Amino acid sequence: MHTSSNGNANTDSVLKPIFLLLVILLAYFFFRGGKGKTTPLNHAEGGGHRKPEEMVVCAHCQLRVPESEASVDSSGRYFCGDDHRKHYSS
Ligand SMILES: [Zn+2]
Repeated sequence: MHTSSNGNANTDSVLKPIFLLLVILLAYFFFRGGKGKTTPLNHAEGGGHRKPEEMVVCAHCQLRVPESEASVDSSGRYFCGDDHRKHYSS
């Protein structure tokens, strides 16, 4: 007797998490898409802001440095350090 009721409870507890997972996945992609459209970083040159470690070239000595460590002057040029930035603008 209890085998049939057991089977019913089983299918219910298996389908519910799958449905919940689908809803969570849909919400996740929906929010991700909405956020990506409103990101103000897209107009940067080349659109390279998606990579975490963008390499830039020093305008003075042509050394390649990570963008996070580079020094930028008022006209948007990159330098390997503050010394070269000051040297270039003076
Ligand atoms: Zn340099």
